[in-house]
Amino acid sequence: APLLAGHPVQRILQDIHRRYRDHDEGRLADYIPELTLADPRDFGIAMAITDGFVHEVGDTRKPFTIQSISKPIVYALALRDHGREAVLRKIGVEPSGDPFNSIAFDEQHNRPFNPMVNSGAIAATALVRGEGRKARLARIMAMFEAFVGRPLEIDEAVYRSEAQTGHRNRAIAYLELNAGMVDGPVEEHLDLYFLQCSIRVTARDLAVVGATLANEGVNPLTGARVLAPDLARDVLSVMATCGMYDYAGGWQYDVGMPAKSGVGGGIMAVLPEQLGLGVYSPRLDETGNSWRGIKVCTNLSRELKLHLLDFR
Ligand code: GLU
Repeated sequence: APLLAGHPVQRILQDIHRRYRDHDEGRLADYIPELTLADPRDFGIAMAITDGFVHEVGDTRKPFTIQSISKPIVYALALRDHGREAVLRKIGVEPSGDPFNSIAFDEQHNRPFNPMVNSGAIAATALVRGEGRKARLARIMAMFEAFVGRPLEIDEAVYRSEAQTGHRNRAIAYLELNAGMVDGPVEEHLDLYFLQCSIRVTARDLAVVGATLANEGVNPLTGARVLAPDLARDVLSVMATCGMYDYAGGWQYDVGMPAKSGVGGGIMAVLPEQLGLGVYSPRLDETGNSWRGIKVCTNLSRELKLHLLDFR
């Protein structure tokens, strides 16, 4: 039976939005000036059900940069391009316990720990097939657009800033090149990584991406198959263990869903077979997750019993 049957979902979303609307805890990301230009009051909650219905409250159509929520999507593309075994040889699936931008690697297997930290995400981007930057970018954009079901754009100012200041990511990529963890044109891989982080999405888009993963890889709005079911499961698995920065364990304990967040203020969460959630609120807490985003997801999980380990 559908989990949400009989629940006045829209009203619950409105209640939670009202509960946190006036909170101003947390701080905008400021490692590049462009992110401080976000309107800190913006606050949107979207829930896409796998039957194709999308509930929305607040600023769900306001664009922001996807940042690290690009990681599961590009990992999905790498899996599609090479298959699970080949990708697993290049990128592990262990939570590292290190910060997202750590330069530590799984030395034993000569690979980054997982695809949700920068080192693993850059290695995933390096696996995206195609002849040259333009063709590979087109394939990345097509993958994102298949997941959200609409055309997308890159925030050029954020991209330029990421590319100009991303020395740590550059260092990570060159260490990976040196160790043989990535092959080929490392500057091109980095450029694509900065571009993927700068794609503009909305809370509604994130909910639809989540619902596509929840729906075994079929976008419930367009009906298009984006990913094979077993690969959708692989993506959700690393989101479950590594998706929420240094709050990944606390998140599983409190909220209990595969999820990914980004410094742009987005959070995407997935309840398999049921729904995808997208929240946008750009002020971040000390773990780098959207402050209100975490509150919304915690409240929703409790009120709708979304925790995967809830007894039903
Ligand atoms: N562009 C950022 C980086 O690669 C993304 C950080 C994030 O959202 O976690 O460092």
